[in-house]
Amino acid sequence: PARVRFAPSPTGYLHLGGLRTALFNYLLARQTGGSLILRVEDTDQARTVDGAVNHLIKMLDWAGLTFDEGPTVGGKVGPYIQSERTALYQEKADRLLKEGHAYRCFCTSERLDKVRQMAKRTGRIIGYDQHCRHLDAAEVEQRVKHGLPHTVRFKVPEGKTVMEDIVHGRIEFSHRAVDDSIILKSDGLPTYHLANVVDDHMMGITHVLRGEEWVSSTPKHLLLYKAFNWQPPKFAHLPLLVNKDGSKLSKRQGDVHIEALLDKGYLPEALLNFVAFLGWGPGSTKEFYTLSELIRDFKLENINKSPAVVSYDKLNYLNKLHIARRLGDPEERDKLVAKLRPVLQEQFDSLMDEEAKRLLSDDVYFTTVLMAVKERIRLLTEVPKFSQPFFIAPNFEAAETRTWRSKLETKEIELVVGQMQQKVTKIGDSDWNTDTVKRALNEIAEEQGLDFVQVMKNLRYALTGTKVGVDMITIIHLLGKRRTLERLQTALN
Ligand code: GLU
Repeated sequence: PARVRFAPSPTGYLHLGGLRTALFNYLLARQTGGSLILRVEDTDQARTVDGAVNHLIKMLDWAGLTFDEGPTVGGKVGPYIQSERTALYQEKADRLLKEGHAYRCFCTSERLDKVRQMAKRTGRIIGYDQHCRHLDAAEVEQRVKHGLPHTVRFKVPEGKTVMEDIVHGRIEFSHRAVDDSIILKSDGLPTYHLANVVDDHMMGITHVLRGEEWVSSTPKHLLLYKAFNWQPPKFAHLPLLVNKDGSKLSKRQGDVHIEALLDKGYLPEALLNFVAFLGWGPGSTKEFYTLSELIRDFKLENINKSPAVVSYDKLNYLNKLHIARRLGDPEERDKLVAKLRPVLQEQFDSLMDEEAKRLLSDDVYFTTVLMAVKERIRLLTEVPKFSQPFFIAPNFEAAETRTWRSKLETKEIELVVGQMQQKVTKIGDSDWNTDTVKRALNEIAEEQGLDFVQVMKNLRYALTGTKVGVDMITIIHLLGKRRTLERLQTALN
């Protein structure tokens, strides 16, 4: 069984990349009967954002990614918030100092700036010149005694580190390119590298699944494991996320944060399905996946190393499939009805007459409408727009409707509407169904020498005031004979 962790830094919103990391860890934990740990990496207090932890937990909860151990659920290797583990990191840094794997650095930030600039100018790869590595032990002791501020740096040995990544294979790093990184800051708090390694070890992590941006940190981590004489976990670095044009997906793009996507009308299961395919694939043509199917089919070996393209077309497509799945399940469908009804009530409020209000609270009618709009929507937020005609008669004075009207021919509208009135009147109440409605439209087209599409277009204008929407036959059928006749008459006035 794998023991894995999702270790976000609480610096803001949860993004697509973070959701993917959480998901892949979750999948590995669940399919091996292992455990998933949530660990909050808040060592960089300056970047920590209030409320970010709660936000993260809320989003993961909403996505259905449950944790076995973490700040809210506890566990046997807690605390799970790094700022509550400071003493542990200090103890480990002391150990490295004592064993000669680390040293105290008294360099001022002014000096470090200069050294860094010099490194840039001379093309030296590492940023720090190891100045304090060679300080005399007695001198160091004196300075510590006098309380001189200092950091603790890791002493990178000579040689090279070879890492075996599950996704990227073998990667070699020459230590000449690895900086003597700070592991303990002058305020006594650890840096990411130290805290991350200490926790992964102390928490018994077997696999580290994280974004590719951490590959370059891994040699430092491996060196730390070696210095501690600890067995490192296995690593799998998940491929970068890129835009269609190959550019790096920016965290700053508001729309990639999960809560914004939720607000836009994406379903959690569709987002999970979508991020699963960012760098992973089942090796078949199957694209629609539920979470339990993902647990079944996910394989670490099937993670690709090439950058994963984030395509919103694909997300929209998957969302549509997942909406359809929910609507196909009676229980889920009822929940959707309950969730969407207040949204429509609010949006339609001032436009509804008594009949519309009654229809909106009628479960059977509302469900039928949802099933009808299902074909047209990719987002839940599109439900109001497409279901409006089923509740509300067109407003011919609306600017949009007038513009659309100006593109149609008055004569043709009048002809089609007039014909339709006659046809509809003749259909008996008990014969009112999609077949008889369709026949009426066909007859008008044939008898008047019009294109079927033209007939539809004019009727759509007259009955809904819009240019696009759910299939007209369905709309007319659901409006029923009386409302259809009422709207046709209004269109002529
Ligand atoms: N705290 C790091 C982050 O925010 C975690 C990196 C890791 O998983 O080691 O992504």
